[in-house]
Amino acid sequence: MSVELLGFNIDDYSFDDAVREAVGLINSGTSSQIVTINPEMFAYAENDEIFSKIVSEAQMIIPDGVGVKIALKLKGHNVERIPGIDFARRLLEYSAHSGIPVAIVGSKEDVLNKAVENLKNEIHGLNVVYAHHGYFKNYDEIYQGLNEAVPRLLLVALGSPKQEYFIYNAKKVLKPCLMIGVGGSLDVWSGSVKRAPIIFQKLGLEWLYRVVTQPERFKRIFPALPLFLLKVLKYRG
Ligand code: UDP
Repeated sequence: MSVELLGFNIDDYSFDDAVREAVGLINSGTSSQIVTINPEMFAYAENDEIFSKIVSEAQMIIPDGVGVKIALKLKGHNVERIPGIDFARRLLEYSAHSGIPVAIVGSKEDVLNKAVENLKNEIHGLNVVYAHHGYFKNYDEIYQGLNEAVPRLLLVALGSPKQEYFIYNAKKVLKPCLMIGVGGSLDVWSGSVKRAPIIFQKLGLEWLYRVVTQPERFKRIFPALPLFLLKVLKYRG
């Protein structure tokens, strides 16, 4: 089931159902894209038709930030927030269990290497067949590398909207693979950025922790949220 929000159909899954759905996509024999949407992405989509089309065509759109959860609540829908970082990690665990090869693209080289090392230590049997940092110019080279390695799960950490564009184009050229944009997850997995304490996560206040610890994010995140909620109220219908 999905719920319409400002023109996008947001999937209304519990965390576990979303994982099951994604596992189905991994095993579907086709390429698919999962978008973990937040208020900044709604704002971006409004001014970028191609980005909007990319999000619309994604096989799954899951509500990442607490902002989207609040917006859906304003429309009368109670959905479970699905933090992209936890979701992606669960998919890595599933892949490790099931012998599915994975690839990771994004972040600075040292961050990527440390994240891959930590993930391999923490997730027994994780098979990373391709890893590349996110500061490349030639997309085709990366697509070619991926096609030689043949992963069936690809995490892309280039930040939004870059990662969604990268995946959208990859869908056309890669062998069957499930792809998901994971934003700053590698920074957390590498240990270079600390995640909010559990209590903040439970209360849906992870954004507040990030704003305080990374004040430069404040400029970016803060204006997007109230504007987004106002828009949702305006178009409540
Ligand atoms: N990043 C990258 N290539 C780029 C721009 C960003 O690999 O050209 C990486 C950056 O190093 C970081 C990740 O993308 O690890 C996410 O960046 P950001 O925190 O801005 O994204 P968000 O989590 O807010 O979507």
